[in-house]
Amino acid sequence: MEISVIASGSNGNCCLVEDHGVSLLIDAGKSCREIEGRMSRLGKSLEDVSGILITHGHSDHISGAGIISRKFEIPVYMTKEVFSTASLGEFESRIFSGDFDVNGLKVKPVTTSHNVSSCGFVISKFGYFTDTGMVTKQMKKTIPGLNSILLESNHDVDMVSNGHYPAFLKKWILSDEGHLSNDNASSIIQENGKKLSFVLLGHLSENHNTPDIASEVFNSLVKRKIEFSVCSRDKESGSWKI
Ligand SMILES: [Zn+2]
Ligand SMILES: [Zn+2]
Repeated sequence: MEISVIASGSNGNCCLVEDHGVSLLIDAGKSCREIEGRMSRLGKSLEDVSGILITHGHSDHISGAGIISRKFEIPVYMTKEVFSTASLGEFESRIFSGDFDVNGLKVKPVTTSHNVSSCGFVISKFGYFTDTGMVTKQMKKTIPGLNSILLESNHDVDMVSNGHYPAFLKKWILSDEGHLSNDNASSIIQENGKKLSFVLLGHLSENHNTPDIASEVFNSLVKRKIEFSVCSRDKESGSWKI
């Protein structure tokens, strides 16, 4: 299995998962052109993608999905809640309400906790979870079986509290339906990820986090030796065979 992080952050998210000869995109929150360019620098092509899986309807996860779907004739998989709010123009949609498969590759949606209907995905032993204010019951059940994960490590709580955002936004970010802090992410991995051998920390906030701070928290809270990497907000992060 190979994971390529094309984009990760509140300015756009996109991850390519290649397993058993099937290529899937999780989220497409950048323009088609940007995603194509970043993928080609990693030696990847949208021509090879069989499906786009959408976690939720926020634009940083869905903005490029319609155009990519039309241009490359790729179906977009989403829940009916996401479909009902998505304004992507015409595109080939596939609605899921539980586990499904794309060309034989099994995909398990896992409920996350956000201010809109949202989920993460598990493919084989890899889990993808961003945009969740807390670890949900379903995540707690799923993470112990994973050997690799991309997990949101969105913010440093003090940087949000002392930052310049209006009070209502701060309250939302820090709420159970907002985003995971660095402490949250590292604690989840320490407490639930007993079999994890590879971690990608993603969806870092531009204003309330830095890769150094996220790494520092990870190193201080996670007591096992686990290979980890912090995703870039500004460019493709890379590809990993796991
Ligand atoms: Zn997001
Ligand atoms: Zn979101």
